[in-house]
Amino acid sequence: MLEKVLIANRGEIALRILRACKELGIKTVAVYSKADKELMHLGLADESVCIGPAPANLSYLHIPAIIAAAEVTGATAIHPGYGFLAENADFAEQVEKSGFAFIGPTADTIRLMGDKVSAKHAMIAAGVPTVPGSDGPLPEDEEEALRIGREVGYPVIIKAAGGGGGRGMRVVHKEEDLIASAKLTRTEAGAAFGNPMVYLEKFLTNPRHVEVQVLSDGQGQAIHLGDRDCSLQRRHQKVLEEAPAPGIDEAAREEVLARCVKACIEIGYRGAGTFEFLYENGRFYFIEMNTRVQVEHPVSEMVTGIDIVKEMLSIAAGNKLSFTQDDVVIRGHSLECRINAEDPKNFIPSPGTVKHFHAPGGNGVRVDSHLYSGYAVPPNYDSLIGKLITWGKDRDEAMARMRNALDEIIVDGIKTNIALHRDLVRDEGFCKGGINIHYLEHKLASQK
Ligand code: ADP
Repeated sequence: MLEKVLIANRGEIALRILRACKELGIKTVAVYSKADKELMHLGLADESVCIGPAPANLSYLHIPAIIAAAEVTGATAIHPGYGFLAENADFAEQVEKSGFAFIGPTADTIRLMGDKVSAKHAMIAAGVPTVPGSDGPLPEDEEEALRIGREVGYPVIIKAAGGGGGRGMRVVHKEEDLIASAKLTRTEAGAAFGNPMVYLEKFLTNPRHVEVQVLSDGQGQAIHLGDRDCSLQRRHQKVLEEAPAPGIDEAAREEVLARCVKACIEIGYRGAGTFEFLYENGRFYFIEMNTRVQVEHPVSEMVTGIDIVKEMLSIAAGNKLSFTQDDVVIRGHSLECRINAEDPKNFIPSPGTVKHFHAPGGNGVRVDSHLYSGYAVPPNYDSLIGKLITWGKDRDEAMARMRNALDEIIVDGIKTNIALHRDLVRDEGFCKGGINIHYLEHKLASQK
């Protein structure tokens, strides 16, 4: 096993990784910015190192500071968590060149998947279903671009190869607008991502977001942990997730899960990863792969009983997967509410001191949060302050437990989106299951 892991992250995920390390008897190094001296996991880690001032580019994104912290503490591996440097191929490369294990895939894999055009190519080669489109960069030649647009059929979406975080995309409804939109997206992509390459896809009008969790040891063994539905989104940000995705065509599901596993083996994938799909009319369409642990990983843990972070640590230590696909049994249902420090009406972040925090409990309730009474949420980072997760023998039980948990939780002193979640778990459409990615936006708009 790994000896000493530096956790290059903050907040709930840093605490999550720390817990997994402690369970496995791995020593831990926490790093923090000057705004984060109060983080809960600092006191639980074996060592902690301040890596810079509050702005993330001077601390959590500052590669030399993190590598130096690993060197002075004698860490042997680095876990990037999610966000920050988790999908930065240069970081992964420098970590390994400096002699530490990177707890994630190789820099080459991160690069392959970080470019959406090369990622899509790799998926097509591995037989993973993708959205019909240009299957490569959209040519600058106008006639050729128009021909592709016609072939795919409108509406289409133009996406930046280097895009991410819901940015660098433009929907085109009619042929007359294609060339101008492509030019505009290229210019924006060049400025925002340093890569002007764009590609074209069929725009799916009412899809769901369904994703597949995988674990792969990079030594020829890969498995999936089933799927998750993350369709409840606002501005492309996930709000509430569940596993398994309700009401999916069983044959299509089996097929896509098997294809993802096969793709992992073909690209020599190492670590935990997620294949993200749009799902419409019983069919899956790959949109991107996340080469890291995801915020919503707990719902898959709850229905499989497998600790994804512990498996990531084991794989990074060079171990083969210790179980096979047949050992993975999906049991019951799990939901996760992302609790954010934000105004429930206008969604503006609401940092400040938590006067009183009370965590809910009971059978099938899990709270992944770094909050405690008196903790001050700094204004510098993402507004996620915790995740409320429930498990039940079926979706109804998981939902009933989530209603209870949301009634019990208390976060006083700052504004949170708890009221929104209380509303969502009683929403008729959501309770039925199978809503599409526009559902929440429509609901919020109708309440205005
Ligand atoms: P990012 O990396 O920026 O998150 P994605 O490729 O994952 O980009 O797409 C983000 C979101 O954009 C999707 O969840 C979906 O809502 C929308 N989207 C992307 N591609 C399509 C498509 N072909 N049709 C419809 N919506 C799409």
